[in-house]
Amino acid sequence: MEVKQKRIDKKILIGLLVLLGVLMIFLAIYFFCIPRFRIQFFETEIEIPYQSEFAYSQTDVCFGTIFHCEEVTPKETGEVDTSKLGTYKVTYTYEYNSKSISKEQEVVVVDKESPIITIIGEEPLFYCGNGNGYGYEIEAKDNYDGDITDKVTSKVEEGKIVFEVMDSSGNKSTLEKKAELNDQESPTITLNGESSIFVELNGTYTEENATATDNCDGDLTSKITIEGSVDTSKSGEYILTYKVVDSNNNASEVKRYVYVYQTSDYPSLEGKNIYLTFDDGPSKYTSKLLDILKKYNVKATFFVTNQNLTKGYDDVLKRAYDEGHTIGLHTNSHVYASVYSSVDAYFADLYAIQDKVKNITGYAPMIIRFPGGSSNTISKNYDNGTHIMSMLTKAVQAKGFRYFDWNVDSKDASTAKNAASVASNVINSLGNKSTYVVLQHDIREYSVDAVEMIIQFGLSHGYNFQALKMDSPRVEHSVNN
Ligand code: ZN
Repeated sequence: MEVKQKRIDKKILIGLLVLLGVLMIFLAIYFFCIPRFRIQFFETEIEIPYQSEFAYSQTDVCFGTIFHCEEVTPKETGEVDTSKLGTYKVTYTYEYNSKSISKEQEVVVVDKESPIITIIGEEPLFYCGNGNGYGYEIEAKDNYDGDITDKVTSKVEEGKIVFEVMDSSGNKSTLEKKAELNDQESPTITLNGESSIFVELNGTYTEENATATDNCDGDLTSKITIEGSVDTSKSGEYILTYKVVDSNNNASEVKRYVYVYQTSDYPSLEGKNIYLTFDDGPSKYTSKLLDILKKYNVKATFFVTNQNLTKGYDDVLKRAYDEGHTIGLHTNSHVYASVYSSVDAYFADLYAIQDKVKNITGYAPMIIRFPGGSSNTISKNYDNGTHIMSMLTKAVQAKGFRYFDWNVDSKDASTAKNAASVASNVINSLGNKSTYVVLQHDIREYSVDAVEMIIQFGLSHGYNFQALKMDSPRVEHSVNN
């Protein structure tokens, strides 16, 4: 029993050994004899940068057995255009002993480069109360999208402005610049139309409005308010004030002057009338002139300037006024270049002499004569093409002044150099009209000396001598500028 048991065990053991041997042989054949390939294969999906150089992967494959293998280089097919973003397919094909095997790879061309923001402007930059920066320029360039300046956003943070931009591939850039709140700049108001407007009495004034822009708020035209109004049924000077305030409370205003003027007719007088007028004084000859006028009880008109008043003729002026002559204004400086440079300059000068006369006489004249007369063209040299005389002749009337020119020129400022020729120039100009306004200058002695002859002639030929008044007949030249 025991022997039989041993014999069976031996048979089983031999069987197992044979089985193991066969298995070993098969394994040996599998590993060492059957051809096979080993692939250290590449990644099946790779990303490469936009506009980089594309190269096929190093993908040699080893065919053979564990002891012997042959490297096989693949045939690569499929184009990759790195100048265009996108996904490309590349195929690697391996051939060995008339067998072939293929592998695909996805090549994704991507843009990973961030845009570049450039700020042209000095730090600190400035920003407005509403958070808008100003005073600098932004530029944003991207390797793929090109100029993307319009995509830049900015936000104001504590002490800085942060600029941000993102390209079409989602690459973001930020740039910080030191900045401070600083909006001291007032809006700019620009009137539509002229700043001086002249409307005849009962005419129509059309509001042309204005535009306004601001460094921070941009177009503020709709925020303009207009103060003042124009009543064209009443002559006078009307001031319209255009106002606007920006978001940081910087205010601006601009004025427009509207002159409603009246050119009403004044009745002509009965008979024949001579208005002696003397410009540019008073002077050292004016007392003598006043004596002559007093002797004949003739009233005249003096268009005074300040040129000689400063030399101490205040008392002469006072005397002329006290003796019933009309004091008119001929401007303070009599300097064409300044009085005819602008409407404002003219009135500043005119009011200066009006104040002066008022201080001396207690009376503020409203009768005026323009230097050179209203027909002068010298003003063209100084008015920048604004046709100053056309404006002034209306503006003075709108402000309630009356201006007088002349219709008899004694030529004492030009060709007449002595009393006799001054007198004869005047006398020869007299006829049967009702109104003669004579131009003389009491800064010339021979002109003063001619006055007695003129008076004697006038009185003996039926003329009345008058001083100009606010309602005297109109003697005005035609305006040439
Ligand atoms: Zn003058």
